[in-house]
Amino acid sequence: MKQCPTCNAKYLGKRICHRCKTDLGVLTDIEDSAMSHLEKAVAAFTMRDFNMMFFHSKRSCSLRRTPEAAKVLACASLLMSKFNLAVDEWSSVNRLMR
Ligand SMILES: [Zn+2]
Repeated sequence: MKQCPTCNAKYLGKRICHRCKTDLGVLTDIEDSAMSHLEKAVAAFTMRDFNMMFFHSKRSCSLRRTPEAAKVLACASLLMSKFNLAVDEWSSVNRLMR
């Protein structure tokens, strides 16, 4: 998060917006959870547990869709023979990077 979604003030890393006092903690918790699931997906890949990789990468993408999360989900989908999802996710990477 680069700015407060309520007032567009620059995000300073605190749970409460310094300008409008919006509680940003819920959003940062979601971002943290998405990152945690992405890390677990990568760890599952190194353990060759592609079911867990798919589960965690899908969860990460549902919480916060980033180009990195979409790439990991595309790879996990491919490894799980979910070819249509793999193509869709890989296609979404280019849209996310614009
Ligand atoms: Zn604000």
